[in-house]
Order: sequence, then C-alpha cells, then structure tokens
Amino acid sequence: MGFEIDYLRRKLLNTMRHKIVAGNWKMNKTLEEAMEIAIALQERKEDVPHGVKVIIAPPALYLANIEMMEEPFFYLSAQNCSHHDFGAFTGEISAAMLDGMNIPFCILGHSERRQYFHETDELIASKIDACLRHNVQPIFCCGEVLEERKDKKHFITVLHQIEKALFHLTADQMEKVIVAYEPVWAIGTGVTASNDEAQEMHAFIRKSIGDHFGKEVSDQIHILYGGSVNPANSEALFACPDVDGGLVGGASLKANDFMTIIKSAAH
Ligand code: PEP
Repeated sequence: MGFEIDYLRRKLLNTMRHKIVAGNWKMNKTLEEAMEIAIALQERKEDVPHGVKVIIAPPALYLANIEMMEEPFFYLSAQNCSHHDFGAFTGEISAAMLDGMNIPFCILGHSERRQYFHETDELIASKIDACLRHNVQPIFCCGEVLEERKDKKHFITVLHQIEKALFHLTADQMEKVIVAYEPVWAIGTGVTASNDEAQEMHAFIRKSIGDHFGKEVSDQIHILYGGSVNPANSEALFACPDVDGGLVGGASLKANDFMTIIKSAAH
C-alpha cells in the first residue's frame, strides 16, 4: 500500500512542474563501466527525493542494457536523433525507434552537436517535430558562446535559438518540451554561471515563452541549467526560482556525485 502511494506520487511528476536532474553521459564509458554506474544508481533508487525526476542519457548503444533502471525513479533519454523516421540514413537512430523502445526523452540541439556536427536551428526544429510525432519529449538545449556574452548579445542569441526551434509549435506541443539553458562557456570547463546569471537568463527564457505561448505554458515549462554543475554548486543553482533542475555532463559519470546532485534538488 505504502509502495503504491509512493509510486502514484512519483507518477504525478509527469503532470506538474517539479525538479528534473538529467545526466548526459555523452560518448563516455565502456559497457562495463556504464553498467557499474547504472547499477550503483539503481541500488540507491530510494534516495531519489519525492518531487525530483531523474533522467539518464547514456550512449544510445547502451539504452537497452540499462533498461533495468526503473521508472518512476529513473527515466531514459537519447542524446540525439534523426529528423527522419526511417530510411537509408546510415548511422542514424530515429524518434520512431526510441518510441518503439519506450525511451521517453531525447536531448536535442546540444552545443556539441551544433559545433561539431553543424546542426542548425532549422534542423533542430525538425528533430523536435520528429520527437513530438513519436511521443518522445525533447530536452532542447540553447545557450550563448563566450564572445556573445562579452558583447552582451546573450539574450538575443538565446531568443533566436528558441524562436527558430520552438515557436512553430502549438501550446500543447510546447508543454512537452524541456528547455535546457547551457551557456557554452560553462560546458565542461569547470566555470559555472553564477546563480544570478542563471536565474536572469531562465527568467528571460520563461518570459519569452510566455509572451509567445501564454502564461499557462510558461508557468509549467521546465527550464534546466547546464554547465559544470557539481555537488558543491547544484543546491544553490537549483534553488533559483526559475531553475527547475539541471542537465549534468561530467558529474553524472560518478554515481556518488550524481546522487548528491539529485538529492540537492529536493531542498
Ligand atoms: C553538458 O554537456 O550538457 C554539460 C552540462 O556538461 P558539464 O556538466 O560537464 O559541463
């Protein structure tokens, strides 16, 4: 009985604004190492606080292996997908395939995909559409490079990214999108945005979404912060009113650190 109530309470997370902590493993770890992290987290599933949704994005090749990670404690995500559903696109995986494997999330528009694979806002917009066609929730990444911040163009950069990738959606579709603000200068550098810088940009993103889609949508949309989140800075970042959790790279590769970050989202 206790378990059922617990389970239902966690399931409710799907319908309200709450904290989300997502781990992006990128192209790291052998299968054996990945399994070790997955098992270590799974063994501590009861430590995941109520009201915190945890999403794990391993290399796509390992998604089936770590399927034992149990909802509603852990949810799986891909790190990218094609804008096509099926066809002769060697090396690609599609949102239709993710849906077929019951993978509920997919990261899209990560700065590494923009930088190294030349992904444009237009391509990212069509990947968002593919995910929404197939019941996969996009985790859409946006963020400025250092020069843009220095030139005080960070708000306009982020606004353009959001407009081009998301503003063609309906309000119902937009509600399914998770936004991750990831200043490129903070990703993998050990330099984190200050709490004020993060809050300021998150409030701007929420307002921009509200201006276009209405307040009902912007009030419930999740906006995660990403960029050198670690166990020492996560609690203060996640306490900012418009920061709904984090997208974590490096620190998600250590089960203990990641669990500390997950727990800090409860405060
Ligand atoms: C990321 O790649 O999305 C990221 C935020 O990485 P890191 O936490 O290592 O900066």
